[in-house]
Amino acid sequence: MLAVYDTATGAVRPFESRVPGQVTAYVCGVTPYAEAHLGHARPAVVWDVITRHLHHRGYRVTLVVNITDVDDRLIERALAQRVPVAALAEKHAAQYLADMHRLGVADPTYLSRATENVEPIITLIERLLARGAAYQAGGDVYLRVRSAPDYGALSHRRLEDLRVGVRIVPSAHKEDPLDFALWKGERPGEPAWPAPFGRGRPGWHIECSAMAWRYLGPHIDLHGGGVDLVFPHHENERVQSQMALDLHGEPGVGWWVHNGMVTSSGVKMSKSLGNGAALSALIEQHGAAPVRGYLLSVHYRSPLDYSEEGLRDFARGWERVERLWEAVQGAPPAAEPVPGERGELLARFPEHLDGALDADFNTPAALGHLFDMVRAANALIAEGSRAAAGLARRNLLAARDALGILGLGGAAAPANRAGQPPEPIQRLLAERDRARADKDYARADALRRAMAEQGWVVEDRREGPLVRPVTPL
Ligand SMILES: [Zn+2]
Repeated sequence: MLAVYDTATGAVRPFESRVPGQVTAYVCGVTPYAEAHLGHARPAVVWDVITRHLHHRGYRVTLVVNITDVDDRLIERALAQRVPVAALAEKHAAQYLADMHRLGVADPTYLSRATENVEPIITLIERLLARGAAYQAGGDVYLRVRSAPDYGALSHRRLEDLRVGVRIVPSAHKEDPLDFALWKGERPGEPAWPAPFGRGRPGWHIECSAMAWRYLGPHIDLHGGGVDLVFPHHENERVQSQMALDLHGEPGVGWWVHNGMVTSSGVKMSKSLGNGAALSALIEQHGAAPVRGYLLSVHYRSPLDYSEEGLRDFARGWERVERLWEAVQGAPPAAEPVPGERGELLARFPEHLDGALDADFNTPAALGHLFDMVRAANALIAEGSRAAAGLARRNLLAARDALGILGLGGAAAPANRAGQPPEPIQRLLAERDRARADKDYARADALRRAMAEQGWVVEDRREGPLVRPVTPL
């Protein structure tokens, strides 16, 4: 049965949704102020796996992912580039989403922008003010941290330690240095919205409380985000939701699920440090499926230290999987079981895959089973076992859902096996090439979608775009 690690309790617990058969999940998304790097793709790919595995296990999943489209960094960049904040945010959000589609990340049920949720944000702030959990000062509104009954319970920190240890943004208006802004009073040249407590814009933490509440209600089963968000973002979000939604100590989140950071030579990738490997370039160079697989080759809770060599090695290993799929295309189903240890590895592969993902979404173990199966199948086929090819094919088909999770559904399909695509698709492909050459990525993406609707997938390889029919495994 599925078991999931929870940051709040620090334990892997058997998973049970509040409403049987239905899962609600909220994941903190990106602040789109610059080009996305590999670190931004990790939570998206991880949550894509989680969502697909939950579907596979029979749950209906409602997933909300937010886009923080108003934020200090966005405002700074937009001012420096002399463009409207909304235009800068939309440009980078569109690029990010296009990259996610290329990585096979399905759209969440709700993709929710902070600026489209100012109303529920204001409602929550009014409630916090009415309960004495927040106060107005200098045009801003702050959360009164000492009014929270158990501040620090999620991140396992004590208030006394925080007061001395944490770097805190100084403000003359705060009653306590730990208090944080729910609403920032209007400043010249910045976006602002009217509110009963004065014109301004929402603080970062309150937007997630408001969006989770708006789409999912006061209780959610799973809450995700990078481990760097545990404190202060999720701690703040948790206590303000507790107080605004009258949860009275009842946890609003069933499982807090945090993914590890992507690092480069041990240092966290970040736009501000400039050590991030640009995501679109990596996909161009190595192909989408190997990038996705590489992100899943380390357990989601561990840090992933990116190196170009590591990714290249993974991509090489991945080719073996693709080649096996090509080799077993059209093999007749195995009439009799394949004897011996290798036969057993093949036969039990779908079961092993499910078992790995049930164990706190252990994707490296799942990939390990896949590579073991590929090795066993190749060895048996090399020995001339026709039954092995049939069994490998049958197992790949049987494990289709799980393989789709790992990204194999697309990658293992035969490369242009059907020869040239039909005329209309070739025309769309040529148009897309032109759009890309003109750097009109929105149009290129629309053309890619048009091709997908007609059953053709484009993969951007180093040697040029590869178009192939959507062949379900
Ligand atoms: Zn958030």
